Amino acid sequence: MSNYDYDLFVIGAGSGGVRTARMAAAEGVKVAIAEKSKPGGTCVNLGCVPKKLYVHAAEYGAGFLQAPGFGWQSQAPLFEWPVLRDNKSEAISKLNGMYGEMLSNVGVEMFDGHARLLDAHRVNVNGKEFSAERILLATGGQPSLPEIPGQEHLLSSDQIFDLEQLPKRMLIVGGGYIATEFAGIFHGLGVEVTQIYRRDLFLRGFDTEVREFVAKQMQKKGIDLRFNCDLSSVVKATDGSFTAQLKDGSSLQTDLILAATGRRPNTHNLGLEKAAVEVNQQGAVIVDDFYQTNVPSIYALGDLIDRVQLTPVALAEGMTLVKHLYQGGTEPFDYSLIPTAVFSQPNIGTVGLTEEEAIEQYPQIDVYSTNFRSLKHALSGSGERVLMKLLVDSATDKVVGAHMAGEGAGETIQGIATALKAGATKTHFDKTIGIHPTSAEEFVTMRSKIRTVSKNSQPA
Ligand code: FAD
Ligand code: NDP
Repeated sequence: MSNYDYDLFVIGAGSGGVRTARMAAAEGVKVAIAEKSKPGGTCVNLGCVPKKLYVHAAEYGAGFLQAPGFGWQSQAPLFEWPVLRDNKSEAISKLNGMYGEMLSNVGVEMFDGHARLLDAHRVNVNGKEFSAERILLATGGQPSLPEIPGQEHLLSSDQIFDLEQLPKRMLIVGGGYIATEFAGIFHGLGVEVTQIYRRDLFLRGFDTEVREFVAKQMQKKGIDLRFNCDLSSVVKATDGSFTAQLKDGSSLQTDLILAATGRRPNTHNLGLEKAAVEVNQQGAVIVDDFYQTNVPSIYALGDLIDRVQLTPVALAEGMTLVKHLYQGGTEPFDYSLIPTAVFSQPNIGTVGLTEEEAIEQYPQIDVYSTNFRSLKHALSGSGERVLMKLLVDSATDKVVGAHMAGEGAGETIQGIATALKAGATKTHFDKTIGIHPTSAEEFVTMRSKIRTVSKNSQPA
């Protein structure tokens, strides 16, 4: 019989915390979870889910413009932001309820409130103390804003979902996932969007050809995309608009500034120092292969450990932990070949190595790529194009990277990720029959090598 109130006390009911709590409880473990906001965490409340709903909303805008080519005639449609915003909130409230139910159905006890560690086995939630054999920290991340004069005028993604009204003009600072996705969303909803990024090409870490392609497509759609451009200060005018002073000495007027400049681990008032839990220089909790911190009874996962900030990764980390603690699992989670999508417009889907990484890791790489206009746009009047790319190790024929930018890229790459995880070669792709007519079939019909590249040679 345990001397503790719980076998496992989870702090944070987001992607990682909920999955761990549910799986552990299903194994007969006595679990409690504390959440200071709403169940579901960032993904459900301020991330993946509302973001994807807004992406769909933005895509309707382009759909209306393209419909006449297919014979549909209508009045110019009117977009009502409050309807979208409030419908989104209603859908999310339902999800919050479902998360609560899922947890209580498996016997997880839920506590509302901010939790913090008191020591290696004790937690305080709203002044009440609980003890647990093990404690899991799954408190996620929070937006990190540039420290500039006028910082108080910047909004983060947390504040962007529930705007009272849609601005006429918007400045988006940053060149990562969030900045690029929201540039597409707000442009699609009719806002004049300027996106600025401090280096020479946004989406650092993605394949360069894909980044260049997406930049061009976004500019063609009318997004004012500026590289080597950064914000130095912001001043609010009496009419409520803002003057954004840029580092090159120029300035621009706008109605709203979204700073999508990264996220940092959420360790605020978590009591890490009380329990002597170690963090790295970025403030992320340091853990081993099975998410154990330097304090043996305390574990951490998800955005808080800052390995890969994606919901499916937080879920996989949680499942790995439960298997390890309660089912005798000895296999750590394999972080290789994690597919990901940027829901920008066009979408990016990617798995495996970029061309730049592949050249570093293999002696010689064969590059197959295609850039085409999909059948839909033969009638839509849109100049939109699709880019697809496969990177193949010349020596073994193994496909080491697959990239797509275009409609449904995330959907397409999901299946290709399975093939790569199974070790697919280019010959496997060539032997696969396409589904016609789709864009995805191009992945199995790319027969001509575009170039062969290696670290020490120019493209051949
Ligand atoms: P979270 O989901 O952030 O959960 C942490 C929870 O802990 C929160 O509910 C928080 O309120 C709670 N908490 C924090 N401190 C305390 C405390 N002291 N006491 C009690 N509770 C506390 N990922 C994707 O895979 N696909 C996407 O499309 C995608 N889109 C995104 C869009 C945006 C705008 C953002 C911001 C993120 C997006 N992500 C996406 C990333 C994804 O949301 C995160 O990787 C994921 O939510 C991390 O899960 P987590 O469990 O680590 O933390
Ligand atoms: P990212 O790390 O993706 O991008 C941050 C961007 O802000 C980078 O372009 C960075 O530039 C720039 N930046 C950082 N600091 C400053 C500064 N002080 N001034 C100006 N620019 C700055 O973070 P996001 O906030 O976009 O997203 C956080 C994470 O959430 C993502 O990494 C991703 O893991 C996850 N996410 C996933 C999504 C999905 O799966 N579709 C969608 C949204 C988020 P630089 O390149 O120079 O560092």
